[in-house]
Parts: sequence; C-alpha cells; structure tokens
Amino acid sequence: MNYVSTRGQAPVLGFEDVLLTGLASDGGLYVPETWPVLKQSEIRALRGRPYADVAHAVLSPLVGDAFAPAELKSMIDEAYATFSHQAVVPLKQLSEDLWLLELFHGPTLAFKDVAMQLLARMMDAALTRRGQRATVIGATSGDTGGAAIEAFRGRKAVDIFILHPHGRVSEVQRRQMTTVPEANVHNIAVEGTFDDCQNMVKAMFGDTAFRRNMALAGVNSINWARIMAQAVYYFTSALALGGPDRPVRYVVPSGNFGDIFAGYVAKQMGLPVEQLVIATNVNDILARTVHTGRYEITGVVETSSPSMDIQISSNFERLLFEVHGRNADSVQRLMSSLKQSGAFTVESDELVRLQQECGAGTADEAQVGAAIKATFGATGELLDPHSAVGVHVAGQTAHESHVPTVCLATAHAAKFPEAVKSLSGIDVPLPERVVALYEKTERLDVLPNDLAAVQAHIAGNTSVEAGAAA
Ligand SMILES: *Cc1c(COP(=O)(O)O)cnc(C)c1O
Repeated sequence: MNYVSTRGQAPVLGFEDVLLTGLASDGGLYVPETWPVLKQSEIRALRGRPYADVAHAVLSPLVGDAFAPAELKSMIDEAYATFSHQAVVPLKQLSEDLWLLELFHGPTLAFKDVAMQLLARMMDAALTRRGQRATVIGATSGDTGGAAIEAFRGRKAVDIFILHPHGRVSEVQRRQMTTVPEANVHNIAVEGTFDDCQNMVKAMFGDTAFRRNMALAGVNSINWARIMAQAVYYFTSALALGGPDRPVRYVVPSGNFGDIFAGYVAKQMGLPVEQLVIATNVNDILARTVHTGRYEITGVVETSSPSMDIQISSNFERLLFEVHGRNADSVQRLMSSLKQSGAFTVESDELVRLQQECGAGTADEAQVGAAIKATFGATGELLDPHSAVGVHVAGQTAHESHVPTVCLATAHAAKFPEAVKSLSGIDVPLPERVVALYEKTERLDVLPNDLAAVQAHIAGNTSVEAGAAA
C-alpha cells in the first residue's frame, strides 16, 4: 500500500516509511493512495471473532507487505494482551439506542493505548530490521504521552522524549509519564500550553538537519499507524450491533481529530457508518467549523477534559483533503491561510460534503457534570469528563431513527478523579494501578517555552549519535 501527502509535495511512501516518518516532509499528513475496501461478506465473516483477528483483517490491506502476515499477527496479539478486559474494548448498553464503547482498559487507562501498543511494536521491529535507532518525540496534552511512554519503555531501538505543558496535565497523567524508570524515557515539562508543545514538535520535524541528526520519529496522533489501529474498534463495535447489516452512528469526544478520522477510515473501507458526530468541550473549533465553514483559532480555555483543550486540530487536514476531492492544492491554500491569519473558510460545496460526513456538538462544564451524574444514576457507569462530553452530545444530537449510537469512552474516570468529584460530587474508586503511581519517584525536566533550549536538551540526552542516520 502506498501513501500520499495531503499537501502533494512529499514523496509517495510505503507503509514502513510512513510509520517511521510521521509528518510528511511538506508539512502534510499521509493517507492511503486509495482506500482498500473490504467486501460486506468479508466484514460479516468477522462477527464474533476475537479483537485481534478483526484487527488483523482490517489492518492487513493498510500495512501491505511491510510485515509478513504472521509477524503482524503476533505484534497485534502482544499489543492487545496488555489490556485488562477479555473483549479488549467492551461495549456497554446505556439506554435503548445508546451504547458506550470502553476504550480505556489498556495500561494507561485511555484509548491512546489501543494504537500506541501496536505502533511501538511495529516501529521497534522496523528499526531493528534496518539496524537503526530513532529518537521518538511527541507532544501531549496528557494521555498520548503516558500511552507512548508505556508502549516504548525499554524498547531497544528507541529513545523517547515527551513534551507536556507544565502544570496543565492531571496528576495521574503526569505520574503515569514521570514514574517510568527506564533510561530510554525522557519527560520534558514545557512552560507553555499544549499547542506550544505541539508547535515545537512540528518545528523540530521541519528542521531538516535536526530531524536527520536525531533520526526523529513521531508518534503523535498525526502518525498514520495510530489512526489505522483505531479504525479496528469501529468494526468490532458495529459487528456487535448487527453490522454490516445495520448502520451505526458514532459520537466521538474529539481534539486532534485522530479518533474520529479513524471512523472515517472504517467507513471508506466498507463499514456502514450512519454518521460521525464530533463532540467537543468549549474549545469548539471543530464544531464551529462544521456548522459555519469557518475554522478560526481562538484562545485555549482550560476545562475538565484537557485532552480536548486544543485549538489546532491536526488531523482535520486529512478530512479536508477528502472533502476537497483529494486536491492537495486546495489543502495547501487553506493551510497557508491558517498560518498567515489563524483562520480559513471551507467553501460551500466542500462544506456540504463535510456536513454529510460529520455532525457536531459541544458540552460546557455544567453539561459534563450533569452527564456524569445522570449516567451514573441510571446505569452505574462512571464516565470520565471526556467521555461525558460525548454522552451529552449524543443526547443533544439524538436521531429519531433508532439507529444505534455508540459513544466512544476515551478514558477511565480514575484518570481524572479530582475533576469527576468536583463536577459531580461522586468519589472515584481508584484501581490498584493508579494507587501505585503515588508511591513511585518522579523524573522530569522543566524547560522554558523555547525551541532552541528543547532541541539542545534532546541532542544532549538521546543515545542516537548525531549524523548516525544521515
Ligand atoms: C486524545 C484524547 C481525546 C481526543 O482524541 P483525538 O484523537 O485527539 O481527537 C479524547 N479523550 C481522551 C481521553 C483523549 O486522551
């Protein structure tokens, strides 16, 4: 399978190079050259199969010949053996037409584990095969970093540096990152916002010499392999609800647009998806864009769902590419407008297409608290604030058609116990894994919001030798 950049100026790459590259050299994002389509009979045959088997069937055409089928299968088996639930991602019924897809049974209790556990294994295998090492860098608003560190800890071919906004991630999220003792793990707390961290990571990838000397590899949600791995649970949940013979509607708590774009991928691959609904907190750039066509950056507001507290939604570019008929020039124009003026406008024909793909809704803090309380009262299910944004939006945008709606539960409530308590008054029982975090020693380096300082720190601490990959 070949991959092309959304901006049309980067080389066409195979899966293995896309996996190791992350961001394309023209600043764009890689997408498959064509969408592989599974026959309805092939999808139907996956009903009742274990998660790993469905993953193998869905991912094989996207991976192509980068890994032998048996090697891919054993990486998938190992990745999902780290999950504490037999079903990997169990589906729970909340009401007649509403279901909750629990994506938080992995090692760091958020859905990021689903993709990261597989990505780390694939990267390590590809690098080892090439006799290379890489420096993985990533920015996190909380959950990505922990999931990446957990997935890459102790892996032979990789040093990992994770930037997080100092003081702006929850205590559990911070401890999940900073209490990992392996020497290949490095935490950088930047005195800035998540967007500052993300911009620095983008700038480091844009610095050709640094990128080559450090053999940089990216694991943020722009990495295609992550999106791909997330497409799998759209299949397993739809199959459980009668798919592909019955369409399903999905509500997805969204920030960087990776998780919901995976639903779009599943749909392109043949899964009947009725609608994809973007759920945002008050940082609602995506919802505003879907409703008005105007993508406009405003200030970031801190909320109880920090993984969605962003204004630059990187993966949205992939959907823009699609709704513009895969015209890279149009994407280029929008992105340069964004760079120059902090905004762009989706024209009317493309906006209609965008609205055909996606609905959108927003929840404020009071609505998040009400959703947590109401869901707990009615079902005993304790939502985290991100998942509660989704459940609120599901109610707000409910269909009369009785199409089953699946809300993606993106984190375990125990990851945000203080927020859940203050929003709803409910005490969150802490699992053993979380309690143990409070007894471990933390390791992190606080750095100024300054690119040169961060680059010097990485160069001084990676075990990749400068120029080694040149
Ligand atoms: C990352 C994250 C999100 C947002 O997902 P995107 O793929 O960035 O849209 C939502 N909820 C939680 C808990 C997350 O960690």
